[in-house]
Amino acid sequence: MSGPIEPVTDPVVRWPDLPPRGPGVVVALDGPAGSGKSTVSRRVAAERSLAYLDTGAMYRAATHWCLTGGLDLESPDADAVAARVREMPLTMVLDPERPRVLVDEDDVSEAIRAPELTRRVAAVASNLAVRADLGERQRRIVVDESTPGQDSVSDGRGVVTEGRDVTTVIATDADLRLLLTASEEARLARRAKEVRGSSDAAALAATRAEVLGRDKADSATTSFTVAADGVTTLDTSDLTLDEVVAAVLGLIDDAKGRR
Ligand code: C5P
Repeated sequence: MSGPIEPVTDPVVRWPDLPPRGPGVVVALDGPAGSGKSTVSRRVAAERSLAYLDTGAMYRAATHWCLTGGLDLESPDADAVAARVREMPLTMVLDPERPRVLVDEDDVSEAIRAPELTRRVAAVASNLAVRADLGERQRRIVVDESTPGQDSVSDGRGVVTEGRDVTTVIATDADLRLLLTASEEARLARRAKEVRGSSDAAALAATRAEVLGRDKADSATTSFTVAADGVTTLDTSDLTLDEVVAAVLGLIDDAKGRR
């Protein structure tokens, strides 16, 4: 799935120029760090020609934008952070094969993954005014992407969105709402491999503080360890990536059958 990225006709999203389909299915996936949700979401979206929206990337972009604006995130001024984020000119490229995040036309997709930034995201993501702002931007994408005839780039292509609160707050009407879980051991091993290229004892120890610390900070504002009503739990601890993808595709088919 590749195609030219559309010129900037929409301030929020861009999508490769593919024929519209609709009404697209909406899939919402939540889970803690290392549950596999990003990889799974991208694979599933690519497989079904759906858009892909990584809401965590939006919180990361907001953090990057605050840091480049010189804001102190150690002891943040909540109003200043919210005001700065409100002005963030964010564009999400929703291509699951090559998702990108542009801020003020700057591609920050790699910069927002830096460990230094990851450590600071909670300071921004715990700001309730920021959550309202980014939440509204997210809902606009999810609704536009799933509704044919809306003035959106993909015109009802449908979307897979993932994060910490998309099943409970952002996309509560999604066709499929899924919580991906995995044992602490599995999550640490995956994250260590992803970030440090190894899951040996040293890499695991270095990853433990980051992952568990982030889970703790995130659980102050979002709830992503126990499925809410109507949300299906999928434990991925003992499944391969292919098995998880196949399971999610099966659940999407079931959900579509119920529509
Ligand atoms: O998913 P990812 O690890 O990239 O998310 C980065 C951070 O963004 C999370 O640790 C959390 O603080 C925040 N986040 C959030 N709500 C979401 C998605 C992410 O608060 N829906």
